[in-house]
Amino acid sequence: MKIISKEDFEAFVEHLLEDDPREVVGVQDKEGKFDFDVLNKASDLRLDYDTTVLPPTKYFMSQRENLLLEDQDEETLEHDITPRIIIGIHPYDLDAIRQLDNVLSETPKGRNYLIKRRSSVLVGVNMDVVADRCFAGSMNTSNVSKNYDLMLTDLGDTYAIEIGSEDGFNLLDGIDIRDATEDEKSRVDNKLSELETKFTRELDFPLEELPKTLDRNYDDIEFWKKHSKACTECGSCIIVCPTSYFINKDDITRDNLGEDGNPEIWKQCLYEEFSKDIADDHVMDEKYQRYRHRLMTKGLYIYKIFGDIACVGCGRCASQCPTDVADPSVVYNDLPKGST
Ligand code: SF4
Ligand code: SF4
Repeated sequence: MKIISKEDFEAFVEHLLEDDPREVVGVQDKEGKFDFDVLNKASDLRLDYDTTVLPPTKYFMSQRENLLLEDQDEETLEHDITPRIIIGIHPYDLDAIRQLDNVLSETPKGRNYLIKRRSSVLVGVNMDVVADRCFAGSMNTSNVSKNYDLMLTDLGDTYAIEIGSEDGFNLLDGIDIRDATEDEKSRVDNKLSELETKFTRELDFPLEELPKTLDRNYDDIEFWKKHSKACTECGSCIIVCPTSYFINKDDITRDNLGEDGNPEIWKQCLYEEFSKDIADDHVMDEKYQRYRHRLMTKGLYIYKIFGDIACVGCGRCASQCPTDVADPSVVYNDLPKGST
């Protein structure tokens, strides 16, 4: 573990902005809400945020992009990618990126994601402030030991830095850092322990029981109808989710490219269109089915294939839902009661 003074850290970020050819993005205050954006100066960086509106995966998952143009090989695609240094990623988002790396490595349609991901350096920061709707403590994602290049912990006048990769090591080349003392290492451990007491929302039962609890409740149609009743199918909960991936795009041919040469839009599982199969027949024609599909995907389907619960507990869906029916912790905690 290394230590850098806050003053030197700010100078480090300024140095990246001035001398590093990669784009530097970081968390910033955007009219009272936080979000990742391109940094213009180091003093704009806010590492004391609660949560961002959109997750950092927005840099790997474009809303519109070419996937399969026949004249586009990996080399030309890489040429179009902007290499980035992303500063200030919370542990739950780092875990979401780890999950997406696994899921999207399994499909050729994940190629664009993986190229962008490989071109990015991830600088994490441990949480100090917990967002009101966050329940990462229950999802085992409030603290991660891998999938970052650097990880910062705020110790007052200094940051403790864990180096997670060669890229992270190289980033610090020539920077004024020193080894952490035993006391500083203990302070980091204490901060992480204290963090676990700051969550006001949590799962009422052990996380490992979630997949089988969901499985048991799959056919409780009244339960899913009750929870989905006020859902307007706006799709916000999917857009803001760090583990969402949008590879259910329309097949891309020269014929369905937009005027700008890009293919048309994402599909997502709460839109009615999503549930149409290749013959244009609905496979999930009722709203409760699509709503259930989202919660099942997060807590059961991805788990069955990859062993991960695909909700990291960031709470963004809950904060953005116009009718407040998107919070997985609320639905999951209600599962043991069922529709009764
Ligand atoms: S954000 Fe809320 S209303 Fe919108 S689709 Fe999700 S659950 Fe439904
Ligand atoms: S389902 Fe909601 S709480 Fe879970 S990771 Fe997605 S946005 Fe965050």
